[in-house]
Amino acid sequence: MLRMKSRIPTLTRRDTALVQAVVWFCNARIRSTRGVEQRFAGAAGMKPDWDDGEFQTIPPEHLYAYVGGPPPPGMASHPHPGGDRGEARELITTAIGFDELTEVRRAELVRQLGLKVRQTMHVTPTVSMKARRVELELRPVWDGVQAIVYYVALLLLSVPQQRRRVGRCRLERCGTYFYDTRLRGGKQQLFCPESGTAHRVAHFREMHR
Ligand SMILES: [Zn+2]
Repeated sequence: MLRMKSRIPTLTRRDTALVQAVVWFCNARIRSTRGVEQRFAGAAGMKPDWDDGEFQTIPPEHLYAYVGGPPPPGMASHPHPGGDRGEARELITTAIGFDELTEVRRAELVRQLGLKVRQTMHVTPTVSMKARRVELELRPVWDGVQAIVYYVALLLLSVPQQRRRVGRCRLERCGTYFYDTRLRGGKQQLFCPESGTAHRVAHFREMHR
């Protein structure tokens, strides 16, 4: 009997959508809390709580909680900060460079992220019945934007195939985070793929000036 067992973990569509949402968050010019929440909840297949859903949102005036920084003067800080983008950038940058970290730092990162994911991600059983057929589905749910950032960071550590697709352009004046959909298990890209070779060329020109 021929048995083929793939050693490459499958990239699920939802995980890919979540990674792409976080990459978008790292780059985007964020104008509204709803814009962020819609993007993340959509990728997670969840409904934001203004729609009676279970995905935590924050009031529009608390945009600072997503873009980072202190609350505007006179405003009390939001009890559930949504997920500071600075933290997302830091986590994603660290996750991309996981292989270069010291063993101690790697173990510490895995421990911290594991703890955060266990606190902010849950599994909800949903049961449905059609005729006599009962279907039980275990659906992952996340508390909100920050929960997804933690999950994606841990996902990048545990699925090298996803990790290699994410990068941050080495051209200093660019620094864009990207998700390379065209990559097929090859090496990690160092420059944003959308620029073609332009950012690679510009980077080396700057280096050799
Ligand atoms: Zn670039």
